[in-house]
Amino acid sequence: MADKFKDIKDRVALGVRILAYQGVFPLALGHVSEKVPGEDLICILSGGVHDRGGILENIGAAEIVVINLDGELVEGEMEPPGERFIHTEIYRSRPEIRSVVHAHPPITVALSAAGQEVLPITARAALFSPSVKIFPHHGQIDNPPIGGKVAAALGQAYALVLRGHGSVTVGESVEAACMITLTLEETARQQWIAAAFGKPQPLPAGAVDEGGRRPWHSPSFYRAAWSYYCAQLTKS
Ligand SMILES: [Zn+2]
Repeated sequence: MADKFKDIKDRVALGVRILAYQGVFPLALGHVSEKVPGEDLICILSGGVHDRGGILENIGAAEIVVINLDGELVEGEMEPPGERFIHTEIYRSRPEIRSVVHAHPPITVALSAAGQEVLPITARAALFSPSVKIFPHHGQIDNPPIGGKVAAALGQAYALVLRGHGSVTVGESVEAACMITLTLEETARQQWIAAAFGKPQPLPAGAVDEGGRRPWHSPSFYRAAWSYYCAQLTKS
């Protein structure tokens, strides 16, 4: 029987491979999800790849499972990830969001350990204006109440940092949510470098209104960036 989720699973698996290759899923930990249009179902990377000693660079559709908004397994042989409640609670609170990524980007996490919020210091990072908030809890987001707190802390933003733990990014597509994770880590890296020369300066508020944000926060940019990172994969 044809798998009606096949296209979504393939896209989610490709997002996982891209982010793993780019180094934001250390120890094979982290996940990408996409909401099924018109249904309260989510396609998400299964849990336990790390436990099995697997690597995310090889992930395919077979490792993507289907869960409902209560976090219960609907389809698939493997268990969903323990931190699935990041995804379920954000989809409940942000109906326009189609994809959620939870990653553990090292430089972003390092900045949070110093109490430093990632700032919109470059044009590409304008969507993070006025700053990426830090959620103060470092533990696992493994039940609905704590997932709800993460969703509330995210609010209407595109990114949130879990202090000493990882990142949460969202987008209107898998391409957008994954690319925003990479933009977050790249911005953290640039902020770290800038701090070697002086105090990193966020772009002026007037420069990050919708007009200033659009070139780097558009479906066409995310498609192009996705293609770029796909090409990086084929080189490996
Ligand atoms: Zn985590």
